[in-house]
Amino acid sequence: MTCFFCKGSMVESTTIHTVELKNCIVVIKNVPCLKCDQCGEVVINGEVAQRIEQIVAGFEKALTEIAVVNYSAA
Ligand SMILES: [Zn+2]
Repeated sequence: MTCFFCKGSMVESTTIHTVELKNCIVVIKNVPCLKCDQCGEVVINGEVAQRIEQIVAGFEKALTEIAVVNYSAA
């Protein structure tokens, strides 16, 4: 797979993904992704994106303003 922006090569990596909800910011660490080794563009596949939605859904009624979750432990 090549980068959509610069045609560099995408390598397997992990990233920090942040989702803003109405009352809460959810920070998910160690999210598996593909990262461009030239420009740093990050691509998250559909399966991982779905898992992120599930994780975030659990925080929609959370009373904390910022939640930090580890993807691999969630
Ligand atoms: Zn790139």
